[in-house]
Amino acid sequence: MNKVYDVLIIGGGIIGHSISFFLNKCGVHTVVVDKQASGNKATQAAAGMLGVHTENEKTGAYHKFCEKSRDLYGGLHKELREITSIDIELSKFGMAEVAVHPDEKKRLHSKKMSFPYLTWEEGQSLRERIPALSENALGALFMQEDGHVEPRQVCEALKRAALYYGGDVLEDQAVIGFKKKGDSFTVNMEHSTVSAEHVVVASGADSGRWFKDTGLCNPIVPTKGECFSIKMREKFFNEALFFRDFYVVPKADGRCIVGATSKAGDQSTDTSAGGLSDLMNRVFSHFPEWREAAFLNFWSGVRPGTEDGVPVIGEHPSISKLYFATGHYRNGILLAPATGQLLKNMITKKKIDPSIQALFSANRLVERGESTYEYSS
Ligand SMILES: Cc1cc2nc3c(=O)[nH]c(=O)nc-3n(C[C@H](O)[C@H](O)[C@H](O)COP(=O)(O)OP(=O)(O)OC[C@H]3O[C@@H](n4cnc5c(N)ncnc54)[C@H](O)[C@@H]3O)c2cc1C
Repeated sequence: MNKVYDVLIIGGGIIGHSISFFLNKCGVHTVVVDKQASGNKATQAAAGMLGVHTENEKTGAYHKFCEKSRDLYGGLHKELREITSIDIELSKFGMAEVAVHPDEKKRLHSKKMSFPYLTWEEGQSLRERIPALSENALGALFMQEDGHVEPRQVCEALKRAALYYGGDVLEDQAVIGFKKKGDSFTVNMEHSTVSAEHVVVASGADSGRWFKDTGLCNPIVPTKGECFSIKMREKFFNEALFFRDFYVVPKADGRCIVGATSKAGDQSTDTSAGGLSDLMNRVFSHFPEWREAAFLNFWSGVRPGTEDGVPVIGEHPSISKLYFATGHYRNGILLAPATGQLLKNMITKKKIDPSIQALFSANRLVERGESTYEYSS
């Protein structure tokens, strides 16, 4: 004991470090605590797609938030490179959602009605442009503004930029509990104790216990995903291709990331042979020639899903200055910048768009849970 931080953030994934970056940049000093090295959980597993339009069927508050976050990457790309010399590899080549069944084509046409600026490419033209694609491809909806980044690099750059602006990081130290006394929190880690005025829970798929311990329902549904990477002899396309049950993301260094399986409730860390085999079968049914591609690597990660599919970003309903920023499921890379900015605005008491506040509110988790949290004011 002990320095008193303005904000202590539990979890050094992309969400925790984004919050830390935005807060430190405006003079609010944070410490990010991670039980291992930063970015080594869900963040390291992600393909990095900024899939604003693959993740939304129509306009609305969630779509707006996704769009805002994607757009923040433009400025961050430059700013993070200037501060840290790290290139987050923001791709400007767009994404295409491919239809291989008539019902998908119909769905994509109605998506185009919601987003008239997206463009439709018919199957023949798509197959001429991407000859490896089988005859099954009926066309694709092209999303010019969506792209992808390199998640590990984003996380590391946000971490270093927060340090540059005055933040702190404690790695290899698990937070084991916290208590609020008066106006501040005492946070216990395995080997030390720290005080902070605010606490933010950003511990990804491990966040569930903090909801339960503070008297809320636990909304977290850990959902395992497995991926692999290959290298093609020739590169035919630059945009990320999104299919109903897999995607392909071509990276700047020539790797193609193929993802991902989805196993709700599975928190295991291994990559299963069956999972990879299923994924390969899906890919090769549309790209038969890729059987000859060089196989590079495989890995897995656990997405922090939620029961209602919406992240929890906001203050605890009854414990002031305790915030949640978790449950980003398969969109945490896309949503990291807007989440960091939103938490910064909440903690510094800026005006928040009421539709965004309501969408992500932790108030929906009040009830049922049994509180073991000792609150002493
Ligand atoms: C296979 C796969 C592909 C994906 N692809 C994409 C994609 O293309 N685009 C996209 O937007 N998203 C994608 N995602 C989702 C994205 O990876 C996650 O939503 C995002 O990484 C969540 O970030 P986070 O910081 O909340 O969690 P994490 O990265 O899991 O970080 C949480 C951190 O909290 C730490 N922690 C936990 N408990 C404690 C404790 N008690 N004390 C201290 N530290 C603790 C952990 O060690 C961890 O480092 C993908 C995910 C997977 C698995």
